[in-house]
Amino acid sequence: MSEEELMEEQIKRNILLTTVDAVYNWGRKCSVWPMAFGLACCAIEMIAAAAARYDFSRFGMEIMRASPRQADLMIVAGTITHKMAPQVLRLYHQMPEPKYVLAMGSCATAGGPFPSYAVLQGIDELLPVDVYVPGCPPRPEALIQGFMKLHDKLMKQSIKTVPWYQKEPAR
Ligand code: SF4
Repeated sequence: MSEEELMEEQIKRNILLTTVDAVYNWGRKCSVWPMAFGLACCAIEMIAAAAARYDFSRFGMEIMRASPRQADLMIVAGTITHKMAPQVLRLYHQMPEPKYVLAMGSCATAGGPFPSYAVLQGIDELLPVDVYVPGCPPRPEALIQGFMKLHDKLMKQSIKTVPWYQKEPAR
C-alpha cells in the first residue's frame, strides 16, 4: 500500500466530517421531551404509545415532563373547549424555546365530532402547529409517525435561521 493510500485509509477510519447543524439537530431530535398533559380520549392513546408495547422512549422521549418549563413538545391530545383554551395557551407560553406543537386527533386538528359553540375548532386557532396527526383517535403507531415527521422537520432546521436565536423571534 502506498503512502497516499495509507493516508486515505487512515482518514476514512479516523476522521468524521459533519456540520454543526447536523450535530445540533441530532442532539435535539434524540431528546424531545413531551409535556405530560392530555385533554380527552386521545390522551389514552398517547399513554398507550408511552407504555411498553409501543415504547416511545426509543426516541429519547421517555421523560414526559410534569412541568411545561422542562418540556419541548406539547402534544395536544383531545378536545379543546373554550373554557380550557386559555389554560392550554398559558402552558404553551410557559414552555421555553425551542418548542413544538403536535395536534393529535381530529379534535385538536379541527374540532373533531364537536362543531359546537363550546369547542375550539382546532388548536391552530391559538398556537402554531408543527405536525398534525389525523384520526379519532389516532392509534399509537400514528402518533409515532407524527413524532418521526417532527424529527424530519427538526433535522431540516439550521442554527443560523431558527427563530429562538433571532433578535426578533418570528413567532
Ligand atoms: S379526536 Fe376522537 S378520540 Fe380524540 S379526543 Fe376527539 S373525540 Fe376523543
